[in-house]
Amino acid sequence: MIAIANLPQAERLPVEEVPHRQTDIPGVTESLRVCRKCNRSYKVLALNRVVLTSGYCIPCFETLFPDKCRDEARDFRDKKFLERCPPLYQQCDPQKLPNASKFDEVMAWRRGKKGLVLIGSSQKGKTRCAWAKVKELYVEHGVGFEAVSDLQFGHQITNYGRSATLGEWTEKLCRTPVLFIDDLGKSVPTERFVSELQNIVEERVSYFKPIIVTMQITGKEWAQKLASRSGSDIAEAIINRLKAHCEVIQF
Ligand SMILES: [Zn+2]
Repeated sequence: MIAIANLPQAERLPVEEVPHRQTDIPGVTESLRVCRKCNRSYKVLALNRVVLTSGYCIPCFETLFPDKCRDEARDFRDKKFLERCPPLYQQCDPQKLPNASKFDEVMAWRRGKKGLVLIGSSQKGKTRCAWAKVKELYVEHGVGFEAVSDLQFGHQITNYGRSATLGEWTEKLCRTPVLFIDDLGKSVPTERFVSELQNIVEERVSYFKPIIVTMQITGKEWAQKLASRSGSDIAEAIINRLKAHCEVIQF
């Protein structure tokens, strides 16, 4: 995670001085150095027989230069975030939103026992604001997250069927520090959809793990989509449960 070239005390040392061994990557060898602080051995990599090292093992380096490590970790998360957030939502300029004050309300939410529900008609910037919040939590504070849209959720449920992989996936959605569900209620859910979602919501609510949700429709409207099919009561109950355990921001 620490970019060796950016270390404040990086030194170039001729690798011939110490024994080294070839790694799987051409030109890259591995050898051991002794930490200047704790005197323990630590592994260093050399590229084309030149090794770059701070002279300290990672635990000592983190103790000596905590700010540097935080920056490096932040940069790493920033890159990771771009891989996980759809390009459309990677940037959020509050001035370009229909109502900039809603952005402030979202950003003022603090992660705690209660989640966050952003509700309102389309094109109001709900998803954009939610992603901005997820970005802040993850990139600035290192809070892990999982994000899934209503449609993706439905597809995954269908694709996994009743395989064990479905259980692993829903387990991940239950345990992640922050779960973001985008555009809940967009699809006409299957009975399986609502029952899996109910389990996730109940599990998270009982462990005080926050959920961030954007949605355009009310619980009643979502239930109506299911008409007389089974699951319609559960659909409405899920939305009511979410609202009871989340701060609601009307867009
Ligand atoms: Zn050390």
